[in-house]
Amino acid sequence: MTAGGDSLQRVADEVRSCPRCRLAQTRTHAVPGEGNAAARLMLVGEAPGRTEDELGRPFQGMAGRFLNSALAGVGLTRDDVFVTSVNKCRPPNNRNPRRDEMAACASYLDRQLRLISPRVVLAMGGTAASRLHPEAVGGNANVTEFRGQVHPLGPEQALIVTYHPAAAMRFPARRQPFTDDLEQAVALAGLSPGGGLS
Ligand code: URA
Repeated sequence: MTAGGDSLQRVADEVRSCPRCRLAQTRTHAVPGEGNAAARLMLVGEAPGRTEDELGRPFQGMAGRFLNSALAGVGLTRDDVFVTSVNKCRPPNNRNPRRDEMAACASYLDRQLRLISPRVVLAMGGTAASRLHPEAVGGNANVTEFRGQVHPLGPEQALIVTYHPAAAMRFPARRQPFTDDLEQAVALAGLSPGGGLS
């Protein structure tokens, strides 16, 4: 898919050789994100962790397996959605991405959003919520405050905020809310099990 000559492949190539911030010096692989180029639902996390950095692919560790089973629970696979993160490179020791690192990386996610044009964006965790929610940009979004609502993002695009899969995996009290939010996002995107349109 192209928009103004841009393409997801071009974004991915640029991400893989990106020199824009200090994380380029410590990464093994940048992680552009992957999935369905015409996805109606896009899932956005925080930043790659150790396994993702090793493999160059998003959500491959324990949180990734949790995400796969949550997707299976709503009848979807990774091929039905597009999965990426706010930051495309792993921060050392999984510290939070810094403000200047998020700024350096911002245009990659903007371009992916433009190219895929999903109906629904699911921001998973406070970093993604802060990056994507119009009222939270640049701040420290409290997921609990923003979840459970549909936020307009563009003319025909909605944002749903939920917990990060790692948090949902770790804290049992966050699992059902995470599942509920994913179900809401899937329904709003008009997806049915198998990734077809409902
Ligand atoms: N956490 C994220 O936010 N993204 C990944 O790819 C893996 C873990």
